[in-house]
Amino acid sequence: MIVRSRTFKGGVHVPHFKESTESRPIKSTRLPSTVVVSLHQHTGAPCEPLVRVGDQVKVGQKIGDSQAALTAPVHSPVSGKVVKIGPYLMSGGVERPAITIESDGLQEVADTVRPYGSLENLTRQDLINLIREAGIVGLGGAAFPTYFKLTPPPGKKFDTLIINGSECEPYLTADQRIMMERPEDAVLGARILMKATGVKQAFIAIEDSKPEAIAAMEKAVSKAKGIQVVPLMAKYPQGAEKQLIKVLLGREVPSGGLPVDVGAVVSNVGTAVAVANTLKTGMPLIERVVTVTGRPLKEPSNLLVKIGTKVSDLVNECGGFVREPAKVIVGGPMMGIAQFTLDIPVTKGVSGILFLDADETSLEEPGPCVRCGKCVENCPMRLLPLFISQYADAGRFDDAAAYGALDCIECGTCSFVCPSRRHLVQSIRLAKAEIVARRRKK
Ligand code: SF4
Ligand code: SF4
Repeated sequence: MIVRSRTFKGGVHVPHFKESTESRPIKSTRLPSTVVVSLHQHTGAPCEPLVRVGDQVKVGQKIGDSQAALTAPVHSPVSGKVVKIGPYLMSGGVERPAITIESDGLQEVADTVRPYGSLENLTRQDLINLIREAGIVGLGGAAFPTYFKLTPPPGKKFDTLIINGSECEPYLTADQRIMMERPEDAVLGARILMKATGVKQAFIAIEDSKPEAIAAMEKAVSKAKGIQVVPLMAKYPQGAEKQLIKVLLGREVPSGGLPVDVGAVVSNVGTAVAVANTLKTGMPLIERVVTVTGRPLKEPSNLLVKIGTKVSDLVNECGGFVREPAKVIVGGPMMGIAQFTLDIPVTKGVSGILFLDADETSLEEPGPCVRCGKCVENCPMRLLPLFISQYADAGRFDDAAAYGALDCIECGTCSFVCPSRRHLVQSIRLAKAEIVARRRKK
């Protein structure tokens, strides 16, 4: 089934830029000598450390957790010695509490890591518990704790699971490779998530620019009940939750609402594979696939990376630079965040690291708004980015809120299409943070 006619309004056709990594199989990285595991790499409350400096830890051992309702534990990706617990600079320029572990090179596995057995023998609550204990969060970038997402609030229930394999950001190919190389695990993950949410139907959404991933997933779902692969038009931001729900189910998530309000739950395909891996092996989330790419790199690659590995180590895994990059972005070019150092560790939500040459970056100063309406025409949330950003710049946050700032999904489409190079999404992002902070204070 090709749902070309059922696409969302707005969005933009971005250049592909995936050629350099889409045909490269996922490569395991060498064991890093040191990992820095952030205690706060998910939406929700940070973890408290469960180890002390000087402790020996094993692979898969829980090293941080919290009693808060919304959180996700963290685990050691290596065996070795805890050498530091304290703040460390993370992507986005913020310091977060983190545990630094020096690897002993032995990779001894913790006793707690044991396969959970067959899916048939586990209850819905067992599955939610194991997903929580494994510290699994949304691997598409949002890093929202998965166990929390799977539990509907009182009075609401799910009827459909959407596995998101769209990967609409230019340059990124991690999910594409996962679907090509681990389609059976993606389907097992979908089945686990279906049981955990009590739904009978699931869609695996993939942009039609990835025919090999579609073919691999179609073959893998052929014997699975209630799961269907749905190729979608390649368009940005096709992988945004609300847009996927609209395209696949024809349902509109209300302003300020969540997918559960319309009976849907959306999970990234990498998350589904992580869930399957935990069920099969008992190993919590200690590694993920990251696309490390861009012209300045000798060998752009899809890498299986231990959480906590530094970006500088990943550059070495890619053969180093052929020339100094002009810009480093963690994430894709549309939604990612620029960095000023490579001394930052990979966290669970990092799907890509992009290095750009000077001629690929724009240092142009923003010009005045010429009222061309392009940002309005292309906004997938049907907002008025020009007004929201102008209110934000003027500090008129109540007005920005009245114009729907909190409905902005920060996709960056408005900034991408603006001929005056106005920093629309950046202003709106700041406005959202200010609006939320003010509401919390009330
Ligand atoms: S206003 Fe928000 S949702 Fe609309 S295009 Fe800009 S970033 Fe995307
Ligand atoms: S796209 Fe840029 S110039 Fe055009 S209306 Fe929007 S903010 Fe103004």
